[in-house]
Amino acid sequence: MMTLSETAAVLRTADKVVITAHVNPDGDAIGASLGLMHLLEALGKHVTVLLDDDIPAAFSVLPGYDVIRRPQEGEAEACDLLVVLDTMSDRIGCVAAAVRAPRILNIDHHHTNPGTAGEDLYLDATRAATAEIVCDLAEALGVQPDAAAAACLYTGLATDTGFFRFSNATAHTYRAAAALLEAGAQPHVISEALEVRPLQTVRDLAEALGELELFAGGRACGIFLTQEQTARMASTESFIGHIRVIDGVDVAVVLKCKEPELCRVSMRSKHVDVSRVATLFGGGGHVRAAGCTLTQPFEEARKTIMTAIERAIREGWTA
Ligand code: 5GP
Ligand code: MN
Repeated sequence: MMTLSETAAVLRTADKVVITAHVNPDGDAIGASLGLMHLLEALGKHVTVLLDDDIPAAFSVLPGYDVIRRPQEGEAEACDLLVVLDTMSDRIGCVAAAVRAPRILNIDHHHTNPGTAGEDLYLDATRAATAEIVCDLAEALGVQPDAAAAACLYTGLATDTGFFRFSNATAHTYRAAAALLEAGAQPHVISEALEVRPLQTVRDLAEALGELELFAGGRACGIFLTQEQTARMASTESFIGHIRVIDGVDVAVVLKCKEPELCRVSMRSKHVDVSRVATLFGGGGHVRAAGCTLTQPFEEARKTIMTAIERAIREGWTA
């Protein structure tokens, strides 16, 4: 584990930097990546952001959205440093193979990240977002975020904290956000851009809510999407937020069947440590927001995750 100033020193000594983050990128993965890109460019570095996924169009409001690239097959990008944000390097898809870097720096806020042998790790699980750590790094590097960096970093803070409502938002998070507003971030522009949905997504939400299932005596609620539904629905990210609010529900889960024997699981909780549930299946995350992949057919995966959540509630798995 490195200190903040050691991490800043590693960034300072690199000239050509590739930044990446986890597949299925969220506002923090994208915002922290672009935010760090703008900071390092202000220091005169050559920076490339590579993400092995499509970037949702809602994020086109962020300065730099257009320069994010998905690596091509067989690509070999040489650089001095690969920076992996908001995950360990096992969830960056083909970027791992597409980049030739003598050094890998992993910056993350997930307490479930054990670090990877041969890589430098800077982990601060007290920070609500990886973007908040990038704000700490800006200070350590002595670089003031410009309006572009501020918009990106604000987006990371806002999306990982449910727009500053979740328990991970601290006084430090609010102070970091205030500094970003002073640097030019416009919260209403970002929140309006991120809340827009295609009509069909709202119709898909109605379908999913129509099928929600309560279990664990009403203390858990799940939406379980078959492969057919998952393939048909363009965006399901917002669904979980609509069931975690149900009175009496501690754990909310959305399971999506992506392939005959591959299901993605997202969990949210009020008390139960869902990162412990996710870790059972090789996933991870935070106490109140975690995820994993189950290599099982739909019905079996559905039973597996329901059983694990029931057990976590019954046995009182809290952090
Ligand atoms: P989400 O449900 O939004 O995909 O993820 C919730 C949280 O858990 C995020 O912080 C995310 O990075 C983490 N997470 C989701 N899926 C996985 C996974 O498969 N492995 C690990 N290590 N973390 C995950
Ligand atoms: Mn994050």
